[in-house]
Parts: sequence; C-alpha cells; structure tokens
Amino acid sequence: MTLCQRCNKREANYIVGGRKLCEICARDEIVKRIRKEIHNSRMFNYKENVAILSPNNMDQIAELLTHIIGKACYTCNLKIDKVSLHLDYQDINEYIWRLIMEAKNLKDYSVKVLPFPSNFYLAYLLYSLTMKKYSYLNYVTSYKTLNDGTKIFIPLYSIPLSELSAFGLINEINFNDDIFNSIFSWVNTQLAENYELFHTFITSTSLFNYPKCKSCDAFIESGEYCALCKRTLASPSPPY
Ligand SMILES: [Zn+2]
Ligand SMILES: [Zn+2]
Repeated sequence: MTLCQRCNKREANYIVGGRKLCEICARDEIVKRIRKEIHNSRMFNYKENVAILSPNNMDQIAELLTHIIGKACYTCNLKIDKVSLHLDYQDINEYIWRLIMEAKNLKDYSVKVLPFPSNFYLAYLLYSLTMKKYSYLNYVTSYKTLNDGTKIFIPLYSIPLSELSAFGLINEINFNDDIFNSIFSWVNTQLAENYELFHTFITSTSLFNYPKCKSCDAFIESGEYCALCKRTLASPSPPY
C-alpha cells in the first residue's frame, strides 16, 4: 500500500495537487484551497447569505459545495442555501447564460456560487475551439463581479472531479447538448489521468480577450450585449 504523502499514516487513494493523499488529507487539502479562494475573493462577510446554484444535472456537486464552503469558512457563520434550478437550454452557452441570469436574479443573496469543476471548463475550452465561439471562457476564474454588482464565486474552477471524489463517488453528469456532452465525457475518461492538465489549461484561457457583454460578461464580437441578452432585453417583459 502507498502511504499518504502528508500524514504518512493512512493509505493514499487520491491525487490532489499532484500529491498522493489519503481520504482525510485529500478532503482537508480541498477545503484549504477553497478557504484560500474565499479569502482572495474578498466577497464573503460575516453571516453573509450565499446561494449555491444547483442545476438539476449538478445537484450532487452543489450539495458537496454547500458542505465544503461551510467548512472552509466555519468562523464566518455563512447562511448557505442550495438553490435548485431546472434550466431549459438549446446548447451549453445558453445553459451557462441561464445560470448567470438566475444568479443576477437572486437578490436575497450577496454571493452566488457556480458549481463548475475544472473538467467542465476544460471541456468548454475544447468545445469553444471547435465551435469558434468563446463566449464564457471569460468565466474560467475563481470569482468575478458583474456590472450590476452581482458577485459570482466559482471555487471549483481549478479542481477536477477526480480530486472531488475524495468526498465520495461523483455520479456521471450529462448535458442537453450532444457535442458538449461527448467532449465532456471524453475529458472525464480519456484525460482524467493527466492531473496537471486540469490546472495548466487555465493559463491558455487567459489568452482569449474580446469585448464583453454589459449584462452577462460573455465575450462578444462587437456591440454592447451578447445575442441572448439582446433578445431578452428587447422582449416586452424581460424575465431577467
Ligand atoms: Zn493522510
Ligand atoms: Zn449577455
């Protein structure tokens, strides 16, 4: 048996940040990493209301995040709610857009958490290169504040599902977008062993730089708003 490289006591069953760790140390490393992101974001105040956005296909990850964020910031007494969402969408860009609109809409919460792990973003990078549409590469980051003041926190952006599995077996995640779905499952099966890749690809996303939508912060080619926001703003009673 391989011993944990941190405690040197228990069996190492997980690789977190390139080190072979036991379950307890792996969980602790992830909680510590998220504690650091919470601190760096400067978004969390004492007793803050935090919404974990939970689209139905990512409910398990959202549930896990509720637990991890509570643990990572146990002295802040955060009020953390998982907000379940059923999203209608044509493709993965609309899926992300709808989540952002829900985040903007949840006025009772001061921080809105998106549940995307780095597997999602690596798949999205490959997808966007295939489709030549880079809308939400701008969201491969741990936190951002939108023009209307909406604070978005994305603590798992550099944490792959393989690391998260230290908290329990992660169920398969499916999306209603066949092309994205096949890239996502390819990333999860064929690339899963390339631990480094799940961190290093993030640097490549910073090479993309375009004008941004004034409402959802998506990359756009020109103008002020992305097509989805434009359509919504033009409707007689905008839902968002
Ligand atoms: Zn250990
Ligand atoms: Zn937009």
